[in-house]
Amino acid sequence: MTPARAPAVAAFDAGRLRAQFPILAQQVNGKPLVYLDNAATTQKPVAVIEAIASYYREINSNVHRGAHALSDRATSAFEGARDAVCRFINSPSREQVIWTRGTTESINLVAATFARSRLRAGDEILVSGLAHHSNIVPWQLAAEAAGAKVVSIPVTDDARLDLEAFARLLGERTRLVALEHVSNAMGTVHPVERIIAMAHAAGVPVLLDGAQAVGHMPVDVQALDCDFYAFSGHKMFGPTGIGVLYGKREWLESMPPWQGGGEMIETVSFEGTRYAALPYRFEAGTPHIAGAVGLGAAIEWLAGIDRAAATAHEDALLAHALELARELPGFRLVGSAPHKVAVLSFLLEGGHPQDVGTLLDQQGVAVRTGHHCAQPLMARFGVPGTIRASFSLYNTHAEVEGLFAALHKVRSFL
Ligand code: PLP
Repeated sequence: MTPARAPAVAAFDAGRLRAQFPILAQQVNGKPLVYLDNAATTQKPVAVIEAIASYYREINSNVHRGAHALSDRATSAFEGARDAVCRFINSPSREQVIWTRGTTESINLVAATFARSRLRAGDEILVSGLAHHSNIVPWQLAAEAAGAKVVSIPVTDDARLDLEAFARLLGERTRLVALEHVSNAMGTVHPVERIIAMAHAAGVPVLLDGAQAVGHMPVDVQALDCDFYAFSGHKMFGPTGIGVLYGKREWLESMPPWQGGGEMIETVSFEGTRYAALPYRFEAGTPHIAGAVGLGAAIEWLAGIDRAAATAHEDALLAHALELARELPGFRLVGSAPHKVAVLSFLLEGGHPQDVGTLLDQQGVAVRTGHHCAQPLMARFGVPGTIRASFSLYNTHAEVEGLFAALHKVRSFL
């Protein structure tokens, strides 16, 4: 975070970028839309919308199966998108990139295969105290089946993970550590390299939930040395319903299959079935081909963005928001980690978050309110929920001002 905003704005023209996002040009409740719910889902540039439309218009067909031209073209587009993901996260091989419906399904896959096949009674899975429910409940399901336990990693007052407590919790019973790269509810960016090194020193593999990281920063799974990395296309300007699980080859090869069906087999007979090689053994059924193509297009689109400049721009938006927050009576920030993405989670004295959200919506400002699928974290801060404004690279300083002008109006109603 830097308070100086002028240089970043000059280097990164969010205003021009917005022209590629047709949805942002509309009015909501008679006011220009100010879309600040990017942590829930990002909007899609024309390049992504067109890639999906032209897939259906020109090459729609099932993949890997047809002895015809359309199927070949669909297969090339689908597998080409896998190659794009492979480069995007710097996976050592395309076989380690598994298509899923999104982060939730990726984590469930690991919980149902990797965790269930290894967990024994008394074992522990350490899970971030800031975790999204989709990085808690799958582990609880796996633990319950084995008589194992899910243990939360404590959270500091400024919404960081307490690494001293983490070091104490890491022990002989720990079978896995699961944490988010970036917190959805408060924006905290965890020192994941350090956490992974600590876990590995204790012989424990780590799953990173990258849902909130991929839209804000480049990700290199080899540099991170994570064992698994899960993310969703829709949080990084791609479509909904498509996501990725990356895993280290040694783990993926040792994991039993999850869902059974077509695509994931080598041969089937009633005497027994041989499963396909990676990545197909974890991809039963007809995949979301258009989704993969759309995600490939989002990756290509992102490749044309100066990501360092985008990050500086987002940081400047957050700094600007924090500056304006100082002048808003009754504003209380929840989650003030020194290293965070542009997420402003807050309360407004005297206003229930849901009411504040509704009043903002009436002024065209879209934010998220509630527990943000992180109820344990809300409990940690003693609040039922917050108001969350989450920024993306296409947001502008005028929109930050619009948010605060709207909040001042909300205050006058309270
Ligand atoms: N993890 C985090 C940190 C998230 O923010 C989200 C969605 O908000 C998820 C997991 C779940 O992602 P999806 O609903 O795309 O599976």
